[in-house]
Amino acid sequence: MKIKTVIVNPMMGRRCSVLLLGMFAVVAAAAPPADLVLLNANIETMDPSRPRAEALAVSGDRITALGSNSEISALVGPDTRVLDAGGKLVVPGFIEGHGHFMALGESQGTLDLRGARDWDAIVVQVREATAGAAQGEWIIGRGWHQEKWSSVPRDNVDGVPLNISLNAAAPNNPVLLEHASGHGFMANAAALALAGIDDMRADPPGGTIARDAAGVATGWLVDRAADLVLEAQSRAASTRDPAAQRAIYREWALGAGREALEKGITSFHDAGVPFATIDLYRELADAGELLVRMYAMVGYESNASLAANLARYRMVGYANNFLTVRSIKRMVDGALGSHSAWLLEPYDDEPQNYGLVVDSLAMIEETARLALANGYQLNTHAIGDRANREVLDLYAQLWVGQANPHGLRWRIEHAQHLHPDDVPRFAQLGVIASMHGVSATSDGSWMAKRLGEKRAGESTFLWRSLWDTGAVVTNGTDVPVEDIDPLASFYGSVTRRMTNGDTFYPEESLTRAEALASYTSNNAWAAFEEDLKGRLAPGMLADFVVLSHDILRVPDAELLQTRVLHTVLGGRIVYSRDAN
Ligand SMILES: [Zn+2]
Repeated sequence: MKIKTVIVNPMMGRRCSVLLLGMFAVVAAAAPPADLVLLNANIETMDPSRPRAEALAVSGDRITALGSNSEISALVGPDTRVLDAGGKLVVPGFIEGHGHFMALGESQGTLDLRGARDWDAIVVQVREATAGAAQGEWIIGRGWHQEKWSSVPRDNVDGVPLNISLNAAAPNNPVLLEHASGHGFMANAAALALAGIDDMRADPPGGTIARDAAGVATGWLVDRAADLVLEAQSRAASTRDPAAQRAIYREWALGAGREALEKGITSFHDAGVPFATIDLYRELADAGELLVRMYAMVGYESNASLAANLARYRMVGYANNFLTVRSIKRMVDGALGSHSAWLLEPYDDEPQNYGLVVDSLAMIEETARLALANGYQLNTHAIGDRANREVLDLYAQLWVGQANPHGLRWRIEHAQHLHPDDVPRFAQLGVIASMHGVSATSDGSWMAKRLGEKRAGESTFLWRSLWDTGAVVTNGTDVPVEDIDPLASFYGSVTRRMTNGDTFYPEESLTRAEALASYTSNNAWAAFEEDLKGRLAPGMLADFVVLSHDILRVPDAELLQTRVLHTVLGGRIVYSRDAN
């Protein structure tokens, strides 16, 4: 395994040089010189036994010592790399608690629609992309959200545009534009035709083909209905030579890894990948090309496939702690933006609609039994209050008779909208609330439209309430739904300040220390990795970041100016802002 030699070799070289240099350096230090020392730092260790330090030493991929500048300077040998932090804050490497790694890489090469002012601006982006594309080539974009536009599209159903202007902009190219929530796609007529979707096509289970008053498909495909177009797109991709396709996937993974490191992410919880992607991750890890440590949840596989494959895919700490597979992702509902989150009471702005069930409860129950039988964690996406209640009920029912239910550490992904009665159940049962601080600030402005002011305030993004009941709350961005930037999510977690300047129920904010824990030690715990990551202490992996501002103490406004100066992963400086 190439990655292993890359990391171990410097350490072996050090031992040789110590021998060649004789005893002098060894006697002076009373311990072998370190491979890397970090000096002149303001280290927040997240380790209760030593919360602060000025300096730390690394050998191989592990932290060996923390202390004062003078104590750690004694470990500098002739080949030791010294990183002077210039008094800046150093924290454990951020762990992205819920993201989509390959989709991040893919999104780097497609149209970014997140900043569009309105639908017309998106149509312009598509027209320009089409002008440079071959006839029949797919035009892909992502990140639009109708609630974030300055005006409602002229042709629309409930604020969601019809594809009429898209058809005119791209008459000969299939166009597929993913909603920011990841729970719907806008397709033009060419893409619908390739997917066999006409006005007569019935909705698939777990999905909606939106139609106008005359019954004409509008191009808006919610949840499982989008699979029809995605399958058409992958049929087109499957005609590509397999080596060329693999090269594309490798580029996505490398691009995602580079962006993660730039933003201080050293570990990534990938919220649902099929076994084929895990095969790719394993190859990349073997080649030293998986740039961040990956905690991959198995997703997009039938229960039959899980039953056949879970045992042989289970791996913990593979390739020197670069790949772990011991969890499964399921999805009980959709999202609020696409009116597909499953609610106890109907939507305020669609009074007949209670949302969608995406994976049936019977299917998830069978998955849960497979998880228990194979020693896997189960992480179920639930956004609406009904979805969350059903998943809590399901976990509780299955855990009866388990020797240590709290030891299972099963998670609910998003846990976004909770009936107040269900809040204390997370801590009581031992269910992890896997949340995203940035969502509250990014989506807060339109919550009341979907749920009404009262429900939005009492039951969405309940960080403080969950934390105070003793639940483990984790943090992330759901990238590419939001930018992978952990500092933006940290800012959202502690201020709940939205881009329009208003705050979204600030009483549900976390403290700075809690928000940092949610992004480091809690995310490590949620992946059974608390003895490796999330704290800076001897024996832990040397994964840490140097930040331009002290995010635990500066005024709120300076949080958003904070930049990652260095990212260190496994004792190697893998990103420096100056070098870029
Ligand atoms: Zn997700």
